[in-house]
Amino acid sequence: MSSAEFRAHGRQVVDWIADYLETIETRPVRAQVAPGDIAAQLPGHPPEQPEPFAAVLADLDRIVLPGITHWQHPRHFAYFPANSSGPAILGELLSAGLGVQGMLWITSPACTELETVVVDWLAELMDLPARFRSAGAGGGVIQDSASSANLVALLAALQRASAGAVTAGGIQRRHTVYVSSQTHSSMEKAARIAGVGADNVRVVGVDPVTQAMDPTHLRRLIEADVEAGALPTMVCATVGTTATTAIDPVGEIGPVCREFGIWLHVDAAYAGVAAICSELRWINDGVAGYADSYCTDPHKWLLTNFDCTAFWVADRAELTGALSVLPEYLRNQASESGTVLDYRDWQVPLGRRFRALKLWAVIRWYGAAGLRSHIRGHVGLAQEFASWVAADPRFEIVTPHPLSLVCFRPLWTELPVDAANQATMSLLEELNASGELFLTHCSMNGVVALRLAIGAPSTEHRHVEQAWRAIQAALPPT
Ligand SMILES: *Cc1c(COP(=O)(O)O)cnc(C)c1O
Repeated sequence: MSSAEFRAHGRQVVDWIADYLETIETRPVRAQVAPGDIAAQLPGHPPEQPEPFAAVLADLDRIVLPGITHWQHPRHFAYFPANSSGPAILGELLSAGLGVQGMLWITSPACTELETVVVDWLAELMDLPARFRSAGAGGGVIQDSASSANLVALLAALQRASAGAVTAGGIQRRHTVYVSSQTHSSMEKAARIAGVGADNVRVVGVDPVTQAMDPTHLRRLIEADVEAGALPTMVCATVGTTATTAIDPVGEIGPVCREFGIWLHVDAAYAGVAAICSELRWINDGVAGYADSYCTDPHKWLLTNFDCTAFWVADRAELTGALSVLPEYLRNQASESGTVLDYRDWQVPLGRRFRALKLWAVIRWYGAAGLRSHIRGHVGLAQEFASWVAADPRFEIVTPHPLSLVCFRPLWTELPVDAANQATMSLLEELNASGELFLTHCSMNGVVALRLAIGAPSTEHRHVEQAWRAIQAALPPT
């Protein structure tokens, strides 16, 4: 592709994206296709001869778009949001344009140094403790996902608990990891990958109302494991659980970890960025006092398209001790001088994208003030939605909803629990099949509830109103 062709098609692509986002509201939120529909329209073999870029764009419209679930749609309320924004998309494009492979400082100094500065900025915006900043023994890095952050946190915890023995000898003792029943599944996956084993993941009970981890039960499980000769290695506390945004009491979990010398990782994938707003900073209570590592996803709620997980550690030596391997071909003076960070030692893969560009573009474009109003807007809409649900006697709110997720359900007063759950699931499918909105569900104490997660940058008051009217209208008349 010549420079002239690149300019022409580049403009077309930017226009295509702008048109897409301008008209997104006219599309059904959830893709309306059956399994295999998209693949059946694609050629079975790659082209032998070059094709014009216009042909790709034409097929994008004709074949790909019908199979897209529109995450940026203002009535996408499913899962957690996957924010995108103009500055993030442009930052992503610049990253692709530079085509940098940022594995070492020397392979592109700005890729490393901009990343260090931007994650320090984010730590400051969220008021995370000073020991997570790069000026001291700790520091932050951008990972591809919270799942990866949870894995590398566990690897660092194993490094600490074994005094470095795992790096050479592998797992020698029975290490145990503590999660709650609400912890994200990536933590069990991490335990499997790390060789800890799913059977050594202890599931701590939660408060039946708040769904937050019970620190008394945590202590009992740890004591029993110590008694049985295991080595309690990591506790994963969650700030904003995936099902209901429950907030584990880090301030009570922390002292237990400290007493037993256990690594405390805090997974705040979705909710953490809310701490940019001072009135929401309480979500991180206890983090400053006790957390050894912490992660949050700007790619969920902070206007930065996937992938962008910010991960911090208090002592980076424990992390790099677990992950640094130095083959001859990567040796260089800068690394050996000890004056630079090589982020390849902070993650599983060697290679890394220049992800800091998009986060930098986002923070500069919106400013701290813009980021705060983005978060506040969604929290405000969710609180208003919750007030409508609470005011309708046919529904109930099932968990606390301090952020932008509301879990609620139709009461189905005349139905037993199983039938009520089935009725809720049918209602959900009917709503989602309409294409008008997209919700997901969760199950707590055996009861199925609907989740409405507000977080698309384009979501306005009227979209939440439309969603509520659609939900009300889908209930059978009483
Ligand atoms: C979404 C989520 C994850 C996984 O996030 P990815 O970045 O998609 O891997 C992990 N933990 C929690 C609490 C989450 O909500």
